Amino acid sequence: MLKNRSVIVTGSTSGIGLGIARAFAAQGANVVLNGFGRAEEIEQIRQEMASTFGVKVLYDPADMSKPEQVRALARLAIEVFGQVDIIVNNAGVQHVAPIESFPDEKWDAIIAINLSSAYHLIKAVLPGMKARGFGRIINVASAHGLTASPFKSAYVAAKHGLIGLSKTVAIEVANDGITSNTICPGYVKTPLVEQQIADQAKVHGISPEQVVRDVMLSHQARKAFVQVEELAALAVFLASEQAASMTGAAIAMDGGWTLH
Ligand code: NAD
Repeated sequence: MLKNRSVIVTGSTSGIGLGIARAFAAQGANVVLNGFGRAEEIEQIRQEMASTFGVKVLYDPADMSKPEQVRALARLAIEVFGQVDIIVNNAGVQHVAPIESFPDEKWDAIIAINLSSAYHLIKAVLPGMKARGFGRIINVASAHGLTASPFKSAYVAAKHGLIGLSKTVAIEVANDGITSNTICPGYVKTPLVEQQIADQAKVHGISPEQVVRDVMLSHQARKAFVQVEELAALAVFLASEQAASMTGAAIAMDGGWTLH
């Protein structure tokens, strides 16, 4: 379905981004992977994805907190694939602390990685998308882009901001064949969340099972983690021709969390 399309997925060495990158490769798209991790493991992922799906897969280690590296990532993709048709702004980090003791450097890093990187990447790829009359901008926010929880000030601010950015871009490019949408997942059991389960169990003095049941999934009407494959299928749909009229949307896939 996405043959001859090329896609950049930020933060795709792990979790949701990796699942989305894989789903795009499975649809025939050439993929640029990005994110941190052990070089041998990333190279293994890159090779496996390319050979399984018969597509080109690149890896770029750009640090999404550095605007110049974000721009260089876009340049590399354009140089190698000739164009960028789809971007998935997925890279994200979390820090949990009350606002009075929130470390300023964590605030700056979360805003830079979870929000500003999307601005810089969108800005870098839009001229090419406009010239070809096709583009798909997919942003991965969170249920925390639609609602708040205590102790996550930077994350909630960045994710709300990402939805605002996406809506603004959607209007600006509505007649250029380009859409911009945001996916808002509930809890997904990725390394980011595995770490939070361990941390919260320690802080609250409760078991990991209690953290999952009483803290994480307490808001989700459906008492189950969202699956990476479900989010990836939504991203593939948003990238398709059939999603041309869907733009500026913030789509919750959160087991009913934000219905309350
Ligand atoms: P993860 O920790 O498994 O993956 C995060 C990815 O981002 C990794 O590839 C990591 O290397 C990369 N990354 C981190 N800092 C980076 C930087 N400075 N530059 C480049 N890459 C960087 O996390 P995940 O759960 O897959 O999260 C992916 C996205 O989904 C994030 O934006 C997160 O906020 C969002 N999200 C996750 C959940 C969840 O429950 N897991 C829920 C809602 C939203």
